[in-house]
Formats: sequence, structure tokens, C-alpha cells
Amino acid sequence: MLDPTDWELFRAQGHRMLDDMVDYLQTIRERPVWQQAPESAQAYFHHGIPRHATPLPELHDTFMQHILPYSVGNTHPGFMGWVHGGGTPVGMLAEMLAGGLNANLGGRNQIPIEVERQVIGWMRDLFGFPAQSSGVLTTGTSAATLIALVTARDAAQQKHPNATTWAAYTSTQAHGCIARALKIMGWQGCLRKIPCLDDHTINLAALQQAITEDQQHGIQPWLIIGTAGSVNTGAVDDLQGLAQLAKQCDAWLHVDGAFGALALLSPQLAPRFRGIESADSLAMDFHKWGQVPYDAGLILIRDGEQHRQSFAAADAYLQREEQGLAANSPWPCDYGLELSRGFRALKIWFTFQSLGTARLAEMIEQSCALAQQLGEWVKATPTLELMAEVSLNIVCFRYCGDQSLSPERYDAINRAIIVHIQQSGLAAPSLTFLRGRAVIRAAIVNHRTQQEDIGKLLAATLVAVQACQSTSSRSHSDATPFTFIFSP
Ligand SMILES: *Cc1c(COP(=O)(O)O)cnc(C)c1O
Repeated sequence: MLDPTDWELFRAQGHRMLDDMVDYLQTIRERPVWQQAPESAQAYFHHGIPRHATPLPELHDTFMQHILPYSVGNTHPGFMGWVHGGGTPVGMLAEMLAGGLNANLGGRNQIPIEVERQVIGWMRDLFGFPAQSSGVLTTGTSAATLIALVTARDAAQQKHPNATTWAAYTSTQAHGCIARALKIMGWQGCLRKIPCLDDHTINLAALQQAITEDQQHGIQPWLIIGTAGSVNTGAVDDLQGLAQLAKQCDAWLHVDGAFGALALLSPQLAPRFRGIESADSLAMDFHKWGQVPYDAGLILIRDGEQHRQSFAAADAYLQREEQGLAANSPWPCDYGLELSRGFRALKIWFTFQSLGTARLAEMIEQSCALAQQLGEWVKATPTLELMAEVSLNIVCFRYCGDQSLSPERYDAINRAIIVHIQQSGLAAPSLTFLRGRAVIRAAIVNHRTQQEDIGKLLAATLVAVQACQSTSSRSHSDATPFTFIFSP
């Protein structure tokens, strides 16, 4: 009913679409990293639900003209904002194959489930998790964290049936998805944010003290969350120390390895993550440093049976058989939030198979080397200061060139500098705050980023400093004279 009437026409159109996307990736450097979409483009997306058909070539044209140029820009080597992966051409092709197959990976007896199990098995091996551990692919670390924390809560309630008040611990640098998961569970009140050391890793002594105080008040510690690559600075908590403390107080250790965990692929970086193999659960993403197209995350849980108990449902329409389509239990839907789910595993499988982990590790090491280089350049620039030691692939810095400015003015100018750089189309850092002060943050995650790109970021920063300084006496809203200075 909905298939094309002329398959040859459709095939030719499909080939044109593929060619356009290969061209797009091949010539990505010739584009601005990001540009503000004009109102004319936005207007295309303001009309109501279409009753009548539009020819495919016309829709393709709209995509090329009004969508493609105005996406966030994370495929571009100059994109360094937040923590975004760049994707790969092979990942794009895998998405197409998965789209055509349209498999529902909730479960059932099919090879796509085997592919997902294999990918999870690879990660189990990489992180040193035992054979009885379980896992499920998710949209990302936010969803993975919720699955982990629900399982941890169920385990804690079984282990401590008499406990009435509970405490969970993480650092002040932990990602917001942790507090959000607890909020969704209705357990937000139990979260303690432990201060960090100068290197932005959790202060273990302060954690130990908080646990002891809680225990003295009859509060049951149930969860400790460590970060393996913090979102602000790339700091890696002392995971061995956390594992020891978790063991002492009989709490669950969850590790947020959203982007950082894949650094274990590198023999050079892996020792920094010692202790990760002791975690009760680990959340990580493939769509960041793994360069797998959005979206793809994973939760791994040491006690697979506990995990299954927390999520498996006995609904009549999901009953299993020994043979036929309803065989092959347990299914992914027994381990997560979703019943219907796509074939995310395929793009991960293709990425790892076609590139190999040696090459992925090399790319991850390159990101770290570039971040070190950028850090050195910042230190050598008198008007800039490095705001945190470069731990992995994230560089936090700011303009500090005018001693007469108040801290608030510095914040305003640095914020204006970031917007100015983004609007230049040359690079795209993002804003964050460290110890209450605005900083320019460059996360080198994209595999396409090279030395010339961090050079462009620095040059664009210095241009932005000039522009924002000359207007710094005006109000903040005026202090951002954004001119488009991109040139390929
Ligand atoms: C990105 C990130 C998250 C959230 O992961 P999503 O995949 O965006 O849901 C959590 N923790 C850290 C450290 C991150 O960098």
C-alpha cells in the first residue's frame, strides 16, 4: 500500500540521497561549523500536518536546503561544544541497513538480538565484567543511568529490608542525569553531593566522612556514583577508592563512563580507569567518543539476575516458548524501559568491525593529545588562562586579559566570546561554570578534529576577545557584535 509504485525511480532517488550525504561528509571542512538558521528556513517547519503527498525529490530538496545546513554541526572537525561525537560514514550506512530491515529488538528469536548480545559481550570483556553480568543498549547514558539506579534501589531494599532512610553519594561534578534519574524514581532527597579535590575528582576523605555521619544517624548508604570522565573537565574519579568505600558500607557502586569509559580501548589510558571492573553497574555511550551515530548508549550490570528481576514483566502477550519466534529468552525488553526498540546494535557492530578497536583507540589518544596541545597554547597566551588541568580531552579556559574587570564582567565577556566564536562558523566551544565562574570549554571528541582545528579555535578566540573587549563597556546584550567571519 505504501511502497513506491515505480521502484526504479525510487532507487535512483535513493542513490541521489546517498550521494548527497557522502558529498556532505567528504566536504565537511568547507562548511561553517554552525550557522544560525534564517527565518525562511524555519518557516518550512511551521505548517500543519500534511493531508496530501509531496513528491520525494521535493522533500529531499527541502532537506538539503533547509535542514542540512542548519544542524548543530557535530560532524564538523571544528565542533567542540558539550560532548558530541562526529559519527562516521560507515555508521551512516549501517543506519540505512538497519532502517531497511526495521527489526524490533524488544526480543524474539532473530539474529539481530545476537548482534546486540555480541556488542554487549565486547563491552563486558573490555570493562572486565563477569560472565553473569547483563546489559542492554539504550538511547544514551541518561536512560542507562535510570536503569542502573532502579536496579540498585531494588537490590538495596532486598538487602536492607528494615532501612527507612537512605543516602546516595556522588560528587559536585557528577552529570545531571544522576539527580534526574533519582527524581524520576522519587528518591531525589537522598542524594549527597560530595566536594571535589582541586583536580575535580571526588574527595574520598569527605565521602568517607559523609558516609560515617549518615551511618551514625541510622541512614543507610545504598549507592555511590563515580565518574569516569566528567562532563565539565574530563576528570576521572579514583574508582578503586570508591569501590573500596562501597564495599565497606555495603553500597552499590555505579560508574558514569558516558564518554570516558571507551578510553579503556587505549592501553595507554586504561590504567587511569582502574577500579571500573569492580563497579556494580556502568553506564556509557557509543555516540560520543565511539563516533557511532546518535543514539547509542549501554548499561552493564554485574548481577544480571538482579537486573532482570527489576525489569522483566510477565505479561500474557510476552510469554516465551522453547521454539519458534517467542524463543531466545531472555530478551532485551527484560532489561530496560522499552519494549519496542530499534536495531541500534548494528551501527555499533559496523563501526567496531569496520574500523577495529586499535584505530578507535588511536583516535581517542589523538583527542587527548590535541587537548594537551590546546592547553599548552592557552598557557602560552598571556590574555588567556587555563581553568582546569587537562585530564583527558576537555580544555576549560577563559579570557583574563584585563585586571580592572569585576568577576561578573569577566563572566559576561567570556560568555560573549563563546557566542562570538560560534557565530564565526570557525569553531564551536561551549559554556560551562567552574567554581562559579564562566569558562570556555572545548571538548575534543570528534575524530575529524586535527591540530589545525584547535589552531582555528584559538585564533577565533583571540578575534572574539578583540570584538568583545571593544564593546565591553556597553550592556551585555550589546556586547556581542556578531559578524560572520567564516571563510573556507
Ligand atoms: C553525556 C553525558 C551523560 C549523559 O549521556 P546521554 O547519552 O547524553 O544521555 C552523562 N554523563 C556524562 C559524564 C556525560 O558526558
